[in-house]
Amino acid sequence: MNAETGSVPLVLIVSGPSGSGKSTLVQKILEMPGTMPSISWTTRQRRATESSGKCYHFVSEAEFGAMVARGEFLEYARVFGKHSYGTPKKWLEESRKRGLDLVLEIDVQGAAQVKEKLPESVAIFILPPSLEELERRLRSRGQDSDEEIARRLAKARDEIAAFGKYYDFCVLNEDVESAGREVQAIVTALRCTSARRRDRVQELLASFGGKV
Ligand code: 5GP
Repeated sequence: MNAETGSVPLVLIVSGPSGSGKSTLVQKILEMPGTMPSISWTTRQRRATESSGKCYHFVSEAEFGAMVARGEFLEYARVFGKHSYGTPKKWLEESRKRGLDLVLEIDVQGAAQVKEKLPESVAIFILPPSLEELERRLRSRGQDSDEEIARRLAKARDEIAAFGKYYDFCVLNEDVESAGREVQAIVTALRCTSARRRDRVQELLASFGGKV
């Protein structure tokens, strides 16, 4: 099926600096019927709060490398210069088969690769209200060392700088309730575009005895 016909489900990319609240906003999108998450593969260590297969599939460098060699990733990248993260192609196939909108929570490098391969994908960037607030959120999570926080803040600067290149929408996450409404409104509006509704309109028109 072709995106032009309006029958291909959405591929939604959500990115934003670590601490911008993007995971919460991704959950807001996934609360909408007709969506499914893309679960990434990563070589980073599992945190105590995470279970394998839910947030990520945690794999060794060797397993990750084998998947790269077999061409199984839609995109993959080395994030914070330390660990590899990737989106398997199988989620894309599954979302098309099931007719569900696929939601990818990935970084800017990944967004660039997906946009290149799937120009019809839509990318949303989540911005924190300020540098101070981002740092406060990262510290209050209590999960990263000072060095890691500095690395995440430096990456935030680079990601915000790259924002204009790949992203179609920008949500400022000052207040999570209103940012949540904004991301859901974006998805709702995308589902109503004429391209996505073309098949439905043709069916309706045929019932009127008309032709496109
Ligand atoms: P964390 O280690 O904090 O869970 O994630 C670190 C960064 O990796 C986040 O910016 C997250 O969006 C990004 N990330 C997670 N999964 C993927 C993926 O499959 N591909 C890419 N390119 N980035 C990912």
